[in-house]
Amino acid sequence: MIEACELAPGYVRAIAPYQPGKPVSELAREMGLDENNIIKLASNENPMGCSPLAKQAVEREMRDVARYPDSNGFAIKEAIAKHCSVSPAQIVLGNGSNDVLEMVAKAMLHPGSSSVYAQHAFVVYPLAVQAMGATPIVVPAQIFGHDLDAMVAAIRSDTRVLWIANPNNPTGTFIESDALKRAIARVPSRVIVVVDEAYSEYLSDALRGNTVAWLREFPNLVITRTLSKAYGLAGLRIGYALMHADTAEILNRVRQPFNVSSVAQAAALAGLADQQFVRESAAANAKGMVQITQGVTRLGLSYIPSHGNFVTVKVGAADEIYQRLLRKGVIVRPVAGYGMPEYLRVTIGLPQENERFLSALSESLHT
Ligand SMILES: *Cc1c(COP(=O)(O)O)cnc(C)c1O
Repeated sequence: MIEACELAPGYVRAIAPYQPGKPVSELAREMGLDENNIIKLASNENPMGCSPLAKQAVEREMRDVARYPDSNGFAIKEAIAKHCSVSPAQIVLGNGSNDVLEMVAKAMLHPGSSSVYAQHAFVVYPLAVQAMGATPIVVPAQIFGHDLDAMVAAIRSDTRVLWIANPNNPTGTFIESDALKRAIARVPSRVIVVVDEAYSEYLSDALRGNTVAWLREFPNLVITRTLSKAYGLAGLRIGYALMHADTAEILNRVRQPFNVSSVAQAAALAGLADQQFVRESAAANAKGMVQITQGVTRLGLSYIPSHGNFVTVKVGAADEIYQRLLRKGVIVRPVAGYGMPEYLRVTIGLPQENERFLSALSESLHT
């Protein structure tokens, strides 16, 4: 390694790089397959695409790409404020919600502080914590989910941020509203609690609860949401977080001034206005979830019951099965990096994609 890089902080050099889902074009190149014959069920993207209104908004906005975006995102914040019943001052926009998660780490963590998250929790939490040189406190999972009592008990005097993914990726586990609220109430107010709701739109109304209403009671609460999943805008990168206005003011200090593109803001505005598309996506997902979970059960496999748009299946020699699926043009996600070497995570696709996954999996198990 060149000298300048050796002088990078040890905590940065120790970070394990993020492993993204394999792009279709890369697999096509590597295996000499036809791109049109490859299905990607690896990154929890919406198989139905995005709202046609969002596409139209993108085309309109393209006329003005010589201009910088609105740094304060006035119009999209107004729309989010209305959609979520908060004030615009409580919203921070991100280049994906990933960006907001990093802003929380950047604003709140430093070497000498610590941060609590669960075993098997979304990988961005460890990445963000490590990048700041803070000490990770990883709390063992309970049946693959967050052990909230143990997480609260793990808080130390130097702890500044506690992360909860609800539902969690890659396990799909979900914490019911009452239990979540009881746990948040026990976190000292000097500790920021991030509740990451990337898959909120896939929950039934009965399960979703109203975490936003809790912002009044818990000034240390930060709720993150994204347009990448049910809204189908992953490629444009836009997400947001809701919080106390004071916290928003601090996060905005570490935010890049133009972190969310004009095109992404326009698409999000149109996407938010098309709740019908979101409902249809969630309904199709629920059906696809039944199709895949029944299918893997027929193959004699078990899975972790999921509340997201993906399910994590116990296949045994996951790396080998993953490779066999790739050779058949089916991309799923290995989760060995999450400490789950016997599992593969599959995103719920269109009915014919789910069928193709199930038959490819069946063949891969029996060769
Ligand atoms: C996908 C995902 C996100 C967000 O991704 P962005 O595209 O950056 O908005 C956040 N949290 C979890 C748990 C996710 O699975």
